[in-house]
Amino acid sequence: MTSIKIAIDGPASSGKSTVAKLIAKKLGYVYLDTGAMYRSATYLALQNDTSLTDERAIVKLLKDYPISFGRRKDDSEQLVFVGDVEVSHPIRENEVTNNVSTVAALPLVRKTLVDLQQQLAKKGGIVMDGRDIGTVVLPDAELKIFLIASVEERAERRYRENLEKGIQTDFNTLKKEIAERDYKDSHRKISPLKPAADAITFDTTGIDIAGVVNFIEKKAQNIIDRS
Ligand code: C5P
Repeated sequence: MTSIKIAIDGPASSGKSTVAKLIAKKLGYVYLDTGAMYRSATYLALQNDTSLTDERAIVKLLKDYPISFGRRKDDSEQLVFVGDVEVSHPIRENEVTNNVSTVAALPLVRKTLVDLQQQLAKKGGIVMDGRDIGTVVLPDAELKIFLIASVEERAERRYRENLEKGIQTDFNTLKKEIAERDYKDSHRKISPLKPAADAITFDTTGIDIAGVVNFIEKKAQNIIDRS
């Protein structure tokens, strides 16, 4: 069976990672969360008191503490490591979330992480989610999806997720932070968030996860069957 590459891009909290994980599982593909890589770079800079605009120093940190992925024994969660340290949860904390767009706008950091992402995708059979996967990382991906949803709905999803994790957040602050991150990600000079010319844009406002997964899986299966 042919193994294809699937790119899933979109703004913050558009459901990319949940959907990408499920599709990878259904197809038996590898899932790569590229946001976790930019988050890890930001985490390393914050932990080491490195300026968030010192791209050379951050690239050096990425060399000293390489990013890797693993799985929990019961397969319930993808784990993220920098060097030997597991950072799966710390990279989701507010301090990282609110600074990641600054680090993700640094050309040398992007080059380092994009090289790594392209290496990991060489064999195909991969679902990657991010902001520039369809445009820059995998321009030859057989299937490109751009997920969107209203800021209101995305903030609501994040708010509910936080409640489930026992984290109290203010809905309006959340909404403001998401809108700010979208603005920074779509207005940066290098690899801004935007759909590839050949991407399918899917508005998930009011649609549940199963509906989105179904749509993408059918598209993927069609391409696999034809190739
Ligand atoms: O996907 P997630 O929200 O975890 O991504 C965190 C941040 O990493 C984004 O807001 C963006 O600044 C950056 N990012 C990026 N390119 C990617 C994936 C994420 O610039 N391919």
